[in-house]
Amino acid sequence: MDARRKLGQQGAAAVPPAAARLPRVQAGDALPLPIRHTNLIFSALFAVSLAYLMRRWREKIRSSTPLHAVGLAEMLAIFGLIASLIYLLSFFGIAFVQSIVSSSDEDEDFLGVGAGAPAPPAPCALLGSPAAAPEKMPEEDEEIVAAVVAGKIPSYVLETRLGDCRRAAGIRREAVRRITGREIEGLPLDGFDYSSVLGQCIELPVGYVQLPVGVAGPLLLDGQRYYVPMATTEGCLVASTNRGCKAIAESGGATSVVLRDGMTRAPVARLPTARRAAEVRAFLEDPDNFETLSMVFNRSSRFARLQGVQCAMAGRNLYMRFTSSTGDAMGMNMISKGVQNVLDFLQDDFPDMDVISISGNFCSDKKPAAVNWIEGRGKSVVCEAVIKEEVVKKVLKTDVQSLVELNTIKNLAGSAIAGALGGFNAHASNIVTAIFIATGQDPAQNVESSHCITMLEPINDGKDLHISVTMPSIEVGTVGGGTQLASQSACLDLLGVKGANRESPGSNARLLATVVAGGVLAGELSLLSALASGQLVKSHMKYNRSSKDMSKIVP
Ligand code: ADP
Repeated sequence: MDARRKLGQQGAAAVPPAAARLPRVQAGDALPLPIRHTNLIFSALFAVSLAYLMRRWREKIRSSTPLHAVGLAEMLAIFGLIASLIYLLSFFGIAFVQSIVSSSDEDEDFLGVGAGAPAPPAPCALLGSPAAAPEKMPEEDEEIVAAVVAGKIPSYVLETRLGDCRRAAGIRREAVRRITGREIEGLPLDGFDYSSVLGQCIELPVGYVQLPVGVAGPLLLDGQRYYVPMATTEGCLVASTNRGCKAIAESGGATSVVLRDGMTRAPVARLPTARRAAEVRAFLEDPDNFETLSMVFNRSSRFARLQGVQCAMAGRNLYMRFTSSTGDAMGMNMISKGVQNVLDFLQDDFPDMDVISISGNFCSDKKPAAVNWIEGRGKSVVCEAVIKEEVVKKVLKTDVQSLVELNTIKNLAGSAIAGALGGFNAHASNIVTAIFIATGQDPAQNVESSHCITMLEPINDGKDLHISVTMPSIEVGTVGGGTQLASQSACLDLLGVKGANRESPGSNARLLATVVAGGVLAGELSLLSALASGQLVKSHMKYNRSSKDMSKIVP
């Protein structure tokens, strides 16, 4: 590891070497006034002393006087020369050395870790390499680490026992480091509020992963402008979505409609016989029983409101797919509580019902499933726009006919050939996942949330383009889960959908779903255009230089 990198990794607490503490001076840098004056004085002193000594030595040589016979004036001149030389060397010499060192920095500067770039985050002082002089761990913590390593204290009790989440994470991390022999240097520990995730978002924390967030926009959607936060490490993605937003905005904007809003949970129960299972099914699906079931279901939350139950059977196993509104929460916890209420209630009338699992996969959560594609889950949204002919040419650098043809052959026929399930699009999951991560959604739900069919049609005598994305299962919330964490909540705030909507519970989450669909519309438009005009590889080479294998980023 090179010395400067090590320096960066020692963190704020480490003392930099003396040279690094001196002001860095480079050609062209404007110096502060007092420094400039001092430089002038010493330069003048140097020049005058040198000139005087040269003149004196020339006279001595001419008059054959020994050179070492010096008078007071000469001694003063020699002293002035040495003093000014030391000053000038120490000032410009360091700048010169620094300029040589930094000239080999070009690659790092490009990557944002060289001069002028923000210093990398300080890794855990406990885990610094020996060269980085790690902070000594307190004796007491040393003992706990040793006990965790020896298996005498389970790592998962540290937070409760110590009552200090940061300390618990540091100790756990040190134990992991000793057990595995891996430094995990690049994974930061400090700079995160571990108490904010305790009991809600994660267990056994040892650090946090950093992801860059970009914004695409403005996305002109339903008359409002949104700057869409996207967390990704795929170069081109935000730039491409941004271009799509521009095309949409220059064409007058997109509009959206939320067709359905209901989270689902489907427990599975086994009955003694298929006939008996059918009886339970009939009870659940009987409209006369809906009110009773709703009362039972709704009692555990102010926001969960039962919308319906849809059943399916496999032999004597009964799958009951409950759908419920969940306010501004994505709703999995909320709906699970309601479902449990109903299962308990059913047990009275059907004591022979054996509940196998609160989730029987007919829900269907985090797995590709036709039920979500057909019936919907979460928010079902359609978003559309008419892109003007001149915008297709000017912004998207292609033409309507090529785009429509490409969409038919790739997104519709191609996906059919592939046996796609909800994947009749170019890269909906790219945008969905980037927005999900930025706004604290459950990223695993990108599976069904990315279900999307993209439709393109020529309109106005083939001049303009009608584009739509239909997304039946966008699962988002603005309360609960990761949405309350500082960074994620800031991204929700950027969109104006942070937290619960008090006047109209559920409105924030629905609005977020429409923004996701709008972002996907922009992303589809831009990628299809890049493909149609053959720009894709070129732009990836520009924005994603380090990706050698382009096939990985062409969805
Ligand atoms: P999820 O079901 O998405 O995991 P949770 O049920 O854990 O979310 O979190 C939602 C919490 O937020 C519940 O306790 C609920 O009472 C509360 N809450 C407050 N305001 C709202 C709102 N407008 N919509 C939904 N939940 C809300």
